Amino acid sequence: MAIGRIAIVGAGIGGMTAAAALHRLGLRADVYEQAFQLGEVGAGLQLAPNATKVLGNLGLGDAIAEVAFEPTDIVSLNWSDGALRFREPLKAVTAERYGSPYMMAHRADLHALLSGVTPAEHIHLGRRCIDIETGGSGAVLTFSDGERVEADVVIAADGIHSAVRERLFGKAPARFTEQICWRATVPIEKVPTRLGPDGGVRLDGTEYFRWLGPTGHVICYPIRGGSVLNIFAGRVSSEWLDESWSAPSSREELTAAYAGWDPAMLEMFAHVEGCFKWGIYDRDPLPSWRSGRVMLMGDAAHPMMPTLAQGAAISMEDGYAAALALSRFADDPDRAIAAFDAERRPRAAKVQLQARTQFANNRKVPAPPPIDCDWIYSYDVARYDPAA
Ligand SMILES: Cc1cc2nc3c(=O)[nH]c(=O)nc-3n(C[C@H](O)[C@H](O)[C@H](O)COP(=O)(O)OP(=O)(O)OC[C@H]3O[C@@H](n4cnc5c(N)ncnc54)[C@H](O)[C@@H]3O)c2cc1C
Repeated sequence: MAIGRIAIVGAGIGGMTAAAALHRLGLRADVYEQAFQLGEVGAGLQLAPNATKVLGNLGLGDAIAEVAFEPTDIVSLNWSDGALRFREPLKAVTAERYGSPYMMAHRADLHALLSGVTPAEHIHLGRRCIDIETGGSGAVLTFSDGERVEADVVIAADGIHSAVRERLFGKAPARFTEQICWRATVPIEKVPTRLGPDGGVRLDGTEYFRWLGPTGHVICYPIRGGSVLNIFAGRVSSEWLDESWSAPSSREELTAAYAGWDPAMLEMFAHVEGCFKWGIYDRDPLPSWRSGRVMLMGDAAHPMMPTLAQGAAISMEDGYAAALALSRFADDPDRAIAAFDAERRPRAAKVQLQARTQFANNRKVPAPPPIDCDWIYSYDVARYDPAA
């Protein structure tokens, strides 16, 4: 039986990657999104080489290079005085080492590029999925307006609080990690140009730089062609916070949380705009991503801690792999779903667990060196052969 109707629940980064890849491969898919407008909240996102490879495979390599930014160096600074821990080249080595660049993008820019591939008539907004039933030959989605949609295959990309996952696989227990985070932006001209006790650490606004301390870290990188600096700040805290990352915060609250840190960093915080906070939670990998004709992907399948900045990257790989499997086994949806699950689940679980280990290591004093990410970055999902 050939696959006729493919439904994707969730028009986030993973869902829109799946839709784009399916359309590029000549398969029709309809996307159902709860929001009434297409778009993305949030600010910066790191696109490691495994993610930029997905964009290249979709024919979006040049387009992302125009709107994102490729930092020249990684600069690591001591938390209290900005003294240099190390400086390493990034731009000059990454593409050569992994076959694709390491870029920083605004989430909205990335999302707009991905969404632009799918014809608008296949994206259905204001459709919140509240129930799903699935059996041997298809699935039926029920939306909050009472409408029901039948599909041969459903790709559930409805994010960290996935309704589909909860309905078909039960609740995934989450553990608060006692870390809270902020995200904010500052105009690039507010980036300090001299740091460290003697002002000897120079920045020119093209670097990825971060302050690392025993109780937290502050990671900064340019986005939007280098015009804006994105800040991601994490801090140990027993204050319980929701996982939603759109709770408003303020520059005063952010600054107070880092009292005693490098004065140059605190001075930069005086210029932050759009400051939000949220709590970091951790979950175990799921034993299965498939139920009948439904395949889970993205954060719905593998919610992970942000330590390795891989959540979106792995979701994009998932989306592309789902399309490859459905295209390869277009006459056998069950085989496509099984092949996808067998390829993606072990890789995502390994990244999920490595993010957890790295998180624990970052809290040790002194922190051990980062765990090797070569195996993550060198992966090219286009080489995945569902029939192998
Ligand atoms: C602050 C922050 C920084 C991050 N930084 C990075 C980074 O640097 N690099 C990286 O790779 N990853 C990063 N991540 C992780 C990354 O953002 C996620 O892993 C990624 O967005 C997951 O994509 P997704 O499509 O699975 O889910 P999402 O992008 O969350 O999309 C889910 C979509 O489903 C919709 N939806 C939800 N429920 C329903 C429903 N019932 N019916 C219909 N639609 C529904 C939502 O509205 C949404 O549009 C970061 C995460 C956070 C919070």
